[in-house]
Amino acid sequence: MTMIKCISPVNGEVYAERPAMPLELAKQAVTHARLAQKAWAKRPLDERVKLVLAGVARLNEMVDEVVPELAWQMGRPVRYGGEFRGFNERSNYVASIAADALKPLVVEESDRFERRIEREPHGVIFVIAPWNYPYMTAINTVAPALMAGNTVIIKHASQTILVGERMVRAFVEAGVPADVFQNLFLDHETTAALIAAKSFDFINFTGSVEGGRSIERAAAGTFTGLGLELGGKDPGYVMEDADLDAAVDTLMDGATYNSGQCCCGIERIYVHESLYDAFVEKSVAWVSNYKLGNPLDPETTLGPMANKRFAATVRNQIADAVSRGAKALIDPKLFPQDDGGAYLAPQILVDVDHSMEFMREETFGPAVGIMKVKSDAEAIELMNDSQYGLTVSLWTKDGERAARIGRELETGTVFMNRADYLDPALCWTGVKETGRGGSLSVLGFHNLTRPKSYHLKKVTA
Ligand code: NAP
Repeated sequence: MTMIKCISPVNGEVYAERPAMPLELAKQAVTHARLAQKAWAKRPLDERVKLVLAGVARLNEMVDEVVPELAWQMGRPVRYGGEFRGFNERSNYVASIAADALKPLVVEESDRFERRIEREPHGVIFVIAPWNYPYMTAINTVAPALMAGNTVIIKHASQTILVGERMVRAFVEAGVPADVFQNLFLDHETTAALIAAKSFDFINFTGSVEGGRSIERAAAGTFTGLGLELGGKDPGYVMEDADLDAAVDTLMDGATYNSGQCCCGIERIYVHESLYDAFVEKSVAWVSNYKLGNPLDPETTLGPMANKRFAATVRNQIADAVSRGAKALIDPKLFPQDDGGAYLAPQILVDVDHSMEFMREETFGPAVGIMKVKSDAEAIELMNDSQYGLTVSLWTKDGERAARIGRELETGTVFMNRADYLDPALCWTGVKETGRGGSLSVLGFHNLTRPKSYHLKKVTA
């Protein structure tokens, strides 16, 4: 029997393991989900919404278990208290717009015709979730999918193997029928076999570009709808009129929070030459304040990376950049807890350029490169010089200038004077290799349902 294991970054030991489900049993689970879906969809919308929110509330009651469990699984310091703020905000927001988002689009209602487009649930939705924000990334799809009348099967990352199990437990304890929301422990082979067997009506995959490719390959020819939310290399651009302190604060937080393991974390920063020196100096001071250490210690502000293999990628990118002329500004002596493994000191690199992997490939760690620019045109060219496109963070007091620059950018979201945040009222989406589709907002509901047209001609006596 294959075991799926979570190796804890806290001590490098197995923290949790679960047997991978054999294909035949997984297919039975899908059959149960399919059988349950029709009855679930027939329940009134407000009943489904209430049950989902009851599941969210039940999970909130588990906070004392969830927070240390997250620290053990993926290294986030307990002082940050889990992911409940974003988890609740997104759930409550999608609940508040569900009726409006799912209401029919009426084209005509006259003596002669009724013409309208209604939205129907897809059926069984498969959610494949990553470990970096394991609750928040999952709820983006789970909550609206269930509210819209789909049943959901979740397969969570090995690194956060307990998260899917716990979410389902909370929802079922709150009254969501067991077949309506199921967690399966699946290895890659079984995941691909289920997808290839047309088990699902829609798949939401959040994870790496390579993972996304595998899922697309597995789904080839099945016509299964796919939402792909993949990697990023999100830039910040600090213009000469920016509020410097606010820019440093938000961009450094965006680059390093969660040990830099955010899909929309800031990975590269372009600063107007007039502010460059001050920006770099303040950023170094900001980052030097971190306390790296055991995430279970309430004093720790920067935990280990989720796995020593992720830290190795960051170390390699930094070493490669330095060997090509980059300068590392954070003194390693400030972070004696850096153990060469999962515990990794934050880093700021200058004298970087786009010939370096560090400035092109996703780093997904607490390290950021800063480059000097002379003009908007140069910054736009550099920001677009990437195979990714999730978010861009612009720093200026001039809203029109930000909008003008935003129109030139190949990205899913344009921020001005903020970064690294998912607004549930806006569509979370990416371009290029960052993905396809979109979640949250009214459009997220549309992606989790299909249109059905009614063209009814009335017979007049
Ligand atoms: P990952 O390795 O691609 O894994 C994501 C999920 O997919 C996990 O559940 C994983 O399971 C599964 N998976 C990966 N390859 C698979 C395959 N060949 N067949 C079946 N399942 C497969 O990504 P990650 O390391 O967990 O997450 C980090 C990545 O996610 C980063 O690139 C980040 O940018 C991206 N991300 C993007 C967004 C966004 O909104 N665009 C949000 C969050 C994260 P196992 O763990 O069992 O391998």
